[in-house]
Amino acid sequence: MQRILTLLCCLLLAVGFAQNKRAETLKISLPLSKVSERAVWTEVELPLHSVPAPDITSEYWTNSVYNPYKGVPVKFPLKISFEDSTYASPISRKKVVTSRYGWRWGRAHQGIDIDLITGDSLFAMFDGVVRMAVYNGGLGHAVVIRHYNGLETTYAHMSRYAVKANDSVRKGQYIGKGGRSGNARGSHLHLVVSYKGQYIHPDYLFEFDDTNKVHGKELFVMRPWTKAYYYSSRRLPKIDLITSEEKLAEFEDREKRLYIVKKGDTLSRISRRNNVTIEALCKSNSIKRNSVLRVGQKLIIEP
Ligand SMILES: [Zn+2]
Repeated sequence: MQRILTLLCCLLLAVGFAQNKRAETLKISLPLSKVSERAVWTEVELPLHSVPAPDITSEYWTNSVYNPYKGVPVKFPLKISFEDSTYASPISRKKVVTSRYGWRWGRAHQGIDIDLITGDSLFAMFDGVVRMAVYNGGLGHAVVIRHYNGLETTYAHMSRYAVKANDSVRKGQYIGKGGRSGNARGSHLHLVVSYKGQYIHPDYLFEFDDTNKVHGKELFVMRPWTKAYYYSSRRLPKIDLITSEEKLAEFEDREKRLYIVKKGDTLSRISRRNNVTIEALCKSNSIKRNSVLRVGQKLIIEP
């Protein structure tokens, strides 16, 4: 026994290892021939995720509840970091978006629909761990993957699974086949992007064309980008990306200069409280002194 241990120690000293940063694995070559006559040099690859990446399965991890973050307070903006500048396309054909995140048929459409033919292969957009691979009401057969930056992607209306809950998956890995299971009017991929239970407008984060671009290394998601009723599912909205702390400060400054009319407000009261003249208020908002203000109306306050 001691001889074997000594031999193993010597082997470890002889280990040649290389860290593959992109794949986040540690490659170790072992001269196994010294252990067994028949064996040759063998390379083992150990995933390093457990070392540099946070353990994404330690909190709010369940294989049965679609949104495990229900009731958990969130702070906006959500700050999401990406290591990759591109995602792996979830389908192998050209992406044709048939419906976007937004209000549709009087309901919130929380994902983006991408056309496909039943039986088309589906792929994980990034590295991660499968949180769910189960039939889920309207979503039909669906796979939910949690990625190492906390983002979750859901692939719905599938016809076949190639992964199961708690499997680790690599970016671009085959996860199953598309279809029309659940509440689907035809075969398509209903792709949901969420972060800590907030369903984000996928077009804010990603470019759904051949470039497969991620919109930034760091993306700040303001609250409206998680509310489907702000958008129409038929149109790509104007996207003003917040990609840095500086841009966030600028954005918040701009927001601050908007005053939302409350019950009982008058122009003179707003003018007094915001330290601007009534004339300035009228000018910057193209209104008259005697204009009727609506509760919820936004007024631009120009200093
Ligand atoms: Zn959909």
